[in-house]
Amino acid sequence: MSRVSELDTGLHRYDVKRVFEMKSLIIGRGYKVATHIENKNPYGFKPGRFCMAPFSLKTIIIVLLSLLIQNNVFAKDPLQVFVSIAPQEYFVEQIGKDLVDVQVMVQAGASPHTYEPKPLQMTGLSKAEIYFAVGVTFENAWLKKISSFNPNLMIVHTEKNIQKIPMAAHHHNDNGHKHGENNHQEEETHGKEHDYDHHPHDGIRDPHIWLSPPLVKIQARNILDALQQVDPANNSTYEANYKDFIAEIDLLHAGLENTFSGKEGTPFMVFHPSWGYFAKAYGLKQVPIEVEGKDPKPAQLKEIIKYAKEQGIKVIFVQPQFSFRNAEMVAKEINGKVVSIDPLAYDWSENLREVASIFGEVFK
Ligand SMILES: [Zn+2]
Repeated sequence: MSRVSELDTGLHRYDVKRVFEMKSLIIGRGYKVATHIENKNPYGFKPGRFCMAPFSLKTIIIVLLSLLIQNNVFAKDPLQVFVSIAPQEYFVEQIGKDLVDVQVMVQAGASPHTYEPKPLQMTGLSKAEIYFAVGVTFENAWLKKISSFNPNLMIVHTEKNIQKIPMAAHHHNDNGHKHGENNHQEEETHGKEHDYDHHPHDGIRDPHIWLSPPLVKIQARNILDALQQVDPANNSTYEANYKDFIAEIDLLHAGLENTFSGKEGTPFMVFHPSWGYFAKAYGLKQVPIEVEGKDPKPAQLKEIIKYAKEQGIKVIFVQPQFSFRNAEMVAKEINGKVVSIDPLAYDWSENLREVASIFGEVFK
């Protein structure tokens, strides 16, 4: 890394006004500025010598200004960025750090399947530079509207290059459909049989891609590419942050693999099927109570209860964004309990680690 870019983090955030303030500071109080430079030590001078023999004011001004220009100081506040859900805020912040200002569309407690943006958010969007989509349902209805009143907004599909799986559904029937064998092939066929074009929940594919660490690595790459494209002056900073984030994900993934090793094929019951990619990443089997995005009918509920009893399931997982009513009913029938886990928590790594340790306890 060059010395200029080391200085970058210290200086690039000054806006134009700040630069002129610094200029007057240089003229008015040369020693103050000299101390500042000495602290940053951009050219590796020995501090002692520098203090004893400061450069002329003219030299300092020229050096400073040329540094400022090279470092793109005349840009700008943090990039104004929107994301759909809170975990994405975490992803973008890991890579953009203080170079980005991230706002989340789907507010705490709301569902990304049915969300409608608030007027204030629309105002924010009109000034935003990037929208990081993730493929959740409400985007289908809103992205077009959003880009129509802010044509300069870059819309980035962070789900790019991710192979989506069909939404999990229980589909229990009595003609030999075995739940123990959660094989992907079968699910694919199922998808075609049921004609997912008419699937009320997210059209064809499962949108919950942010709950699989390996898939988040792909999303992180898409985020990096977009930030570098919009703000090339900070390429190397984004790149370094991205590498740190990938290392964090690898560490998390290894820990989770460890938690679930030997548990392959273990079923877990959820109300809303948010954990399909998580299940896939760690060899588990997600069994939803919801049927194609809707509450189950009484007959379906009976089947689910029967299945839970057969499998010895004792915990129904719910999430804060959906009603617990049906889950509580099933839990009562199987003499089990309802446990809440949040697929939309901001603190993504920590949250997945917690979820894994809850699963680990339940699977014992
Ligand atoms: Zn969902």
